Amino acid sequence: MTARAETPTNWGLYGHDWAVRALARSLAADRVAHAYLFTGPHAIGKTTLARAFAQALQCTNDNRPCGACPACQKIARDRHPDVQMIEGVPVGYRFDEKAPPPPPRANDWERRILKIDQIRLIQHDVARAPFEGRWKIIILRRFEEANEEAANAFLKTLEEPPAHTRLILTARDASLLLPTITSRCQVMALRPLAPAQVETALIEYWRAEPATARLLARLSGGRLGWAARAAAQPALLDARRAHLDALDAAVRENRAERLIRAEGLAKKTEALPELLEHWLGWWRDVLLVLGGDDARLTNIDRADALREYAARFTLEQIQGALKSARATARYLTLNVNARLAMEVLLLNLPSAIV
Ligand SMILES: [Zn+2]
Repeated sequence: MTARAETPTNWGLYGHDWAVRALARSLAADRVAHAYLFTGPHAIGKTTLARAFAQALQCTNDNRPCGACPACQKIARDRHPDVQMIEGVPVGYRFDEKAPPPPPRANDWERRILKIDQIRLIQHDVARAPFEGRWKIIILRRFEEANEEAANAFLKTLEEPPAHTRLILTARDASLLLPTITSRCQVMALRPLAPAQVETALIEYWRAEPATARLLARLSGGRLGWAARAAAQPALLDARRAHLDALDAAVRENRAERLIRAEGLAKKTEALPELLEHWLGWWRDVLLVLGGDDARLTNIDRADALREYAARFTLEQIQGALKSARATARYLTLNVNARLAMEVLLLNLPSAIV
């Protein structure tokens, strides 16, 4: 989703002004690097920036990117023949040129793999001259999903890219990639937007209600892409409500009830990373309340419950809950038994039974 509006930078994006300025400068000086790596958390705006940069590179007007010329418009709709967007395929997906396209990613936490076959297709493609644009641009999203074979194959392209090629990689963190990859890219680390910036964007561009915009801005942690999606899909907020309700119910349950709850939660494995994220955010907020730092709360719509937790539990209990939620999130990425992990997590929650 490209956030265009009457405001901020001349690229029509919300936030990341320093990155836009740096890219615009290199463009104006005709010193665009062969490869870029945009890093930052999910849905922070890496792909949106990559798309805007691709527009700036291909735009046929003077004030690049104009947003109006055929090149800019095609890129906005991901339909430009010389701008390709590549990302990993589902685990187990058999990749070949004639295979049906992989389904869209189910959620931010779905694990995918960028495979060597995809890199080979790119190499084949960049060897040819652009069809209609000035450049051949390849945007490789979530490059941390490239397996070793694919990353090594891609190194070749990075080392000797054809002159008409520009490569834009995105990744959660540069440390997740091979140093040989990052060292050949110009790395730009995008940071979360300020809550006020997200709030403004939601109201101005996505026409969100002010109260919703305020809540989503806090919940997003400065990730405008997430906030915009949540504004359009109430299901995301519903899931959060269910996750926080489950936590609140669990602290009031006895051991046997918690074990049953753990089993139920573990059945929806795909929802667990998000659930843990919500629980982590919750305990962080309880700590903030305990420290008298209410201004930085995330769950502003549940301030009363946060205060209740801060009054009821000790600092050690709150820190313990935070720690075990963090550990569980880590275990789950290592493919441990989800039910066992959730049982341990729930049994370790402090008790609000009086
Ligand atoms: Zn244009």
